[in-house]
Amino acid sequence: MRQLKIAPLNFGLGRKRSSLPFGCEVQRSRRKTLAIYIIQGKVVVRCPMRASSGQITTFLNDNREWIEERLAEESLKQKQQLRIERGAKIFYRARELRIVFKEGRKERVMVLGDKFIVQGHKLTPAKARVQVENFLIAKAQDYIIPRARGLARYLGVDHKLKEIKLRKTKSKWGHCTSTGIIQYNYLIMLAPYSIIDYMITHEVCHMLHMDHSQRFWNLVDSLCPNSEHYMLWLKEHEHRFWI
Ligand SMILES: [Zn+2]
Repeated sequence: MRQLKIAPLNFGLGRKRSSLPFGCEVQRSRRKTLAIYIIQGKVVVRCPMRASSGQITTFLNDNREWIEERLAEESLKQKQQLRIERGAKIFYRARELRIVFKEGRKERVMVLGDKFIVQGHKLTPAKARVQVENFLIAKAQDYIIPRARGLARYLGVDHKLKEIKLRKTKSKWGHCTSTGIIQYNYLIMLAPYSIIDYMITHEVCHMLHMDHSQRFWNLVDSLCPNSEHYMLWLKEHEHRFWI
């Protein structure tokens, strides 16, 4: 990968004053056009080596509305991030529940009405988080594995499916290898069953088509109609599931 020259640039402090309310990072490279990215809540401008700061300021001003919308979106996402803490909100099966810590010798997690109850002895957020993850792993074992195996049998590819792993990965919900290993992120158990079923279907269909070709999507759609609806839902809400 080509090295980028990175020069932090704070608009408003430079020679040409700007009314832009945010700092931004300028990355120069041998590209021909300017482009704006929002990366982890920060504005990054990628531009040609010789772009002047005036050009960059104008470009930022022209796109100000878009930038502000994206920044607001990012900050909302940050606020909605899942924290297993007393009184915090959890987005469980498309409903917003309140997390309650309950003292008790027996460790368990229960959903009662609008409460997501974590019961344990002298609970701390760290302990509660482990309990919630174990709860989701158990749910994934009971739900995902038999359904994925059943679908593989139905499609006649059970001999190809060697192993199903449940693992918390950083950015993926499912993954499939050509050696017949399917991996699911157990945090998907926070989502509604229709979304989980879509993920199960998607990965098992890769046992027949290892790509995202039309043939692959036709197969997915024949088993799980409206898959694009589920993908969109996931895209919109998945930031609320990562812990
Ligand atoms: Zn895929």
